[in-house]
Amino acid sequence: MTAANDRAVSMARMMARLGARASTISSNTGLSTVAARRIYLHETGRRPPSGQHPSSYEWLESPVARVHSSLYLSFFEPRHRAGLDVCQAAVLAYADYMHAVEPEIELDFERAFFISKLLICSVGKSGRDGFQRRPCVRCGALYYVGQPQAARRQYVCPVCTGRAAAALSIRRRQN
Ligand SMILES: [Zn+2]
Repeated sequence: MTAANDRAVSMARMMARLGARASTISSNTGLSTVAARRIYLHETGRRPPSGQHPSSYEWLESPVARVHSSLYLSFFEPRHRAGLDVCQAAVLAYADYMHAVEPEIELDFERAFFISKLLICSVGKSGRDGFQRRPCVRCGALYYVGQPQAARRQYVCPVCTGRAAAALSIRRRQN
């Protein structure tokens, strides 16, 4: 066992506990998919989730997703800016996010990882799929918004417009 391998295994364990897919663990730690699956099973007692990786921007446009993704990115961005790689920063930020919102976790680790990469891609660019940080003109909270909202002169967040609360109450009635 080399030190680099130890680091990869401990990162893989953390990612598994947060719900990362085996392929995400494998491609970000350099471990084989087989090793990643074994670690996932060992850490969680379950088989790793399969299926597509998130790639949809539509989900991000919902009011509740906007609140949660902004909260998560506010934990992620300073760590990434301080020099942690995307994987380290995402693992730490996601753990903070979970503690902050439990039990109402809206953002799973795969989505959090996806938007982390989106944020990094959008830094310094004006690509339409990127994010920009905008303060809400009513409450002052910082939000990470897509280009359409960023293009507006004044951004009002989903909490202040009542859209987040409305979305949550609709969902509670449905459940
Ligand atoms: Zn606001």
